Amino acid sequence: MSLQLQTDIFAEGAQRLQMTESIELTTQSLQAYGPDHEHWGIAWSGGKDSTATLTLICWLLDTGKIARPKTLAVFYADTRQELTPLAISAERIMDELRERGITIEVVRAPMDKRFMVYILGRGVPPPNNNTLRWCTRQIKIDPMEEALRQRLDGIGGNILMITGVRQGESAIRDRRIEMSCGKDGAECGQGWYQQVLPNARGLKGRLATLAPLLHWRVCHVWEWLRHWAPAEEFGDWSTRAIADAYGGDEAEELNARTGCIGCPLAQEEKALETVLRNPQWAYLAPLRGIKPLWRELREPQHRLRKPGLELLKDGSFAKNPQRLGPLTFEARLMGLDRILSIQDECNRAARAAGRPLINLIDDEEEARIRELIAAETWPQGWEGDEPTGDVILDVVYANGAVQPRLFSEEDA
Ligand code: SF4
Repeated sequence: MSLQLQTDIFAEGAQRLQMTESIELTTQSLQAYGPDHEHWGIAWSGGKDSTATLTLICWLLDTGKIARPKTLAVFYADTRQELTPLAISAERIMDELRERGITIEVVRAPMDKRFMVYILGRGVPPPNNNTLRWCTRQIKIDPMEEALRQRLDGIGGNILMITGVRQGESAIRDRRIEMSCGKDGAECGQGWYQQVLPNARGLKGRLATLAPLLHWRVCHVWEWLRHWAPAEEFGDWSTRAIADAYGGDEAEELNARTGCIGCPLAQEEKALETVLRNPQWAYLAPLRGIKPLWRELREPQHRLRKPGLELLKDGSFAKNPQRLGPLTFEARLMGLDRILSIQDECNRAARAAGRPLINLIDDEEEARIRELIAAETWPQGWEGDEPTGDVILDVVYANGAVQPRLFSEEDA
């Protein structure tokens, strides 16, 4: 079903929805569209919206309110960048799913494409909102696409992919379908799963998507995670810790965005700050250092720069002469050292207090990062002999005109 069609249906019932009405509408959407598909998949990131979706669907299936598909697979998108309390909750929920006999597939990017390895090993600058938004596709969408392709090869037929996209009633009423995960309250990746996956190579025509919580307000999500899902009658799920991670009682008011630790695209680290206000998680305070590190690494002195016009493979010139490029080896090693120090500091405090350890970069990832640096790896299109971004150069314009610098470094 298209999101637009689903939106139209929800728009009709978009008066101030109460919890039971919200669940009822969710049930109806699954009753209406579920039976057309023998195989269902749930795209789950461990964040609030997709966890509410996952646990609610399990309850609806367990109580016979919706008919069971022939197969149900849960695809856990493990970015390796999740906030610690959420990663721990996800582990618990996976145990609870396995107890129910539900298949879980942990979906991860291949080693060289993981966030830390890509930046610190391959030298690609941290993502930003403008020119370089590579992360969501690379650590969430592409691995999910690949996992689905493999799944489809195994079953034949098609899959109904259920996502945690949530717009809230007012957005639905106004038909403001906002897919951006930079928006407060949204869960990074879910909108992309909804829009991008059905058209992906090898999936087109074989994948339908459904967002059964599209109409839920954020307070319903907190209510479900904190009070309903943990209750015996709704499945005894370990979801309370997810809501608590976002602020316990305050969570009701908090329209928290769900995403990676230190996400360079988020304005503020609201989720991390909320976690740190809980004395149990206060030992994770060094994680505050990650976001400023990504910002620092985007500065010119840590990057190479194309000195002039750049000739592309097709014989034309790149539109942005003298663009900044990859991270120098020194910058990558500095970043690696900084992340490992943050990890050590958290884990020393964790051991002293008997709290869970964190794992920002594991041994295998560290070894691969060092290997890529030692092999002098540069991203495609870069040789490593370009000047760094802080070297003063003659200005080159896109039409090839050159404005010589007024003062050379020797003059300074
Ligand atoms: S949460 Fe931020 S860093 Fe992580 S994938 Fe989304 S946009 Fe990228």
